[in-house]
Amino acid sequence: MTAPTPAPPMIRMAGVDKFFGPLHVLKDVALEVPKGQVVVVLGPSGSGKSTLCRTINRLEPVDKGTIEVDGQPLPAEGKDLARLRADVGMVFQSFNLFAHKSIVDNVMLAPLKVRKTPAADARKTAMELLERVGIANQAEKYPAQLSGGQQQRAAIARALAMRPKVMLFDEPTSALDPEMVQEVLDVMTTLAKEGMTMLVVTHEMGFARKAADRVVFMADGEIVEDSTPEDFFSAPKSNRAKDFLGKIL
Ligand code: ADP
Ligand code: MG
Repeated sequence: MTAPTPAPPMIRMAGVDKFFGPLHVLKDVALEVPKGQVVVVLGPSGSGKSTLCRTINRLEPVDKGTIEVDGQPLPAEGKDLARLRADVGMVFQSFNLFAHKSIVDNVMLAPLKVRKTPAADARKTAMELLERVGIANQAEKYPAQLSGGQQQRAAIARALAMRPKVMLFDEPTSALDPEMVQEVLDVMTTLAKEGMTMLVVTHEMGFARKAADRVVFMADGEIVEDSTPEDFFSAPKSNRAKDFLGKIL
């Protein structure tokens, strides 16, 4: 009997380079995220963390190298690209909810338009997701009527509505008032425990310590360290990581 083929990692980046004009923002980046893992990306401002996230659902094309999601190379355009974007959920610092739609309509929108889900089913799923993130009682309100923490939980529900295979979070709590950070991190921690594959850019070190399987540290467009949270926080290897931790801890 032959051994079963191992499942491909959910995300695989190899030899990725990205330039903005003369600026080399991703330098020979290699990163694998196995299914079910939570990887926290740390690094100083301008180190390329957002760009890294954005390349994975092709909001930014790369100049060199390969990126695969669940074993499939990123499609360049068309229907395949729409399918990729559905598989890779993304949550940004700014919640990007549609201001003139109710919360439940925001969550239903992509399943209706992209997945062609019947409206009744889309609404049912949306309400279940709003329940899961703890804001079902806000479903008929408009984004501006919600707190920042509630809006970000709605944005997470909206991403989950497409049944993504992986979720990317780019500083999801950075725009929130301090008292609202934890409610968003709690939703993310629950997702992680349920087995969602997650790539999370954050400055929340408590979340990195508790929820991350791995910490990836970036500086100047390079992945400088890739280790367990225990090793990273107790014994960072590079001077750049030591400097970074010295400034934020
Ligand atoms: P981080 O998220 O770690 O703060 P970014 O990925 O946003 O870093 O940015 C990495 C570098 O690329 C920075 O120097 C930033 O100014 C630059 N950059 C980001 N987006 C663009 C863009 N669209 N055009 C030109 N330069 C950009
Ligand atoms: Mg950023």
